[in-house]
Amino acid sequence: MTGADGITAAQVLTLIQSWRLKPTEPVACPACGTQGLAIVDQSARPYREWYATSCPGCGFKKTVAMSMGAMGG
Ligand SMILES: [Zn+2]
Repeated sequence: MTGADGITAAQVLTLIQSWRLKPTEPVACPACGTQGLAIVDQSARPYREWYATSCPGCGFKKTVAMSMGAMGG
């Protein structure tokens, strides 16, 4: 699925996975490359995690879902 910004959910998921490993490290925006992408954990259900990302620099926003099983345990 590709939005008007050209960034796929898979690209955002990759960013989130690395962010989970190093939550204190700044994340670069996939649209403009600026470090400081905001990632908010909006998970509300036991089976699926939701993450909302937003970039204060270019206005990029994308919310992606990640199934718990996809994280390999
Ligand atoms: Zn940006």
